[in-house]
Amino acid sequence: MARYTGPVCRLCRREGMKLFLKGARCEGPKCPIVQQKPPRNFPPGAHGQRRTRRPSDFGLQLREKQKVRRFYGVLETQFRKHYGEAVRRGGVTGDNLLQILESRLDNVVYRMGFADSRKAARQIVRHGHFTVNGRKTNIPSFLVRPSDVISVRTESRKRVYFQDFSEVLATKQPPEWISMDNGNLSGRVLNLPARDQIQVPLFNDALIVEHYSR
Ligand code: SF4
Repeated sequence: MARYTGPVCRLCRREGMKLFLKGARCEGPKCPIVQQKPPRNFPPGAHGQRRTRRPSDFGLQLREKQKVRRFYGVLETQFRKHYGEAVRRGGVTGDNLLQILESRLDNVVYRMGFADSRKAARQIVRHGHFTVNGRKTNIPSFLVRPSDVISVRTESRKRVYFQDFSEVLATKQPPEWISMDNGNLSGRVLNLPARDQIQVPLFNDALIVEHYSR
């Protein structure tokens, strides 16, 4: 399964904003976006500090799409599939797209507090540590539905990573559309999140729709 394995702070620098790809480090002073000495809040690469021209409409649309794609850690082919599904659902395509991205299993596991980043969540999902409604599910792009129960597999609870994990979960704040049972290392999806329940940096999803409608 394809995934991006390069340096992730580079992606934030390219987009000029925090995408929160590295867990706890993203909140600290070492984040290149806020780091003062030496400052690194410019695009990566040999020409990153050159004065740039005003981006074209296409450039603006592309950057917006890349931001969202990188924030959720999804590659282009998968992202395009999610976009196709968002169009099929009818209604506001941008809102549908964000709802679909939020309901990916790797994102839900991250939102539940089982991992510090979506990348880490993707890994523990791939390693088969979770069940959805009692069935082992190791597909990060699996889309959860309302009333689905996501739990740590019984066999995986003995792992060092999950030992005393209910105490870790108690320190996390899941979103309002997820109800956690910390003692059981599980959570239930109450409903798919509406746009105002999705906590993401400011994305202009209209530009993404324009990008794919060209
Ligand atoms: Fe790196 Fe996180 Fe800062 Fe992004 S937000 S630049 S991933 S430390």
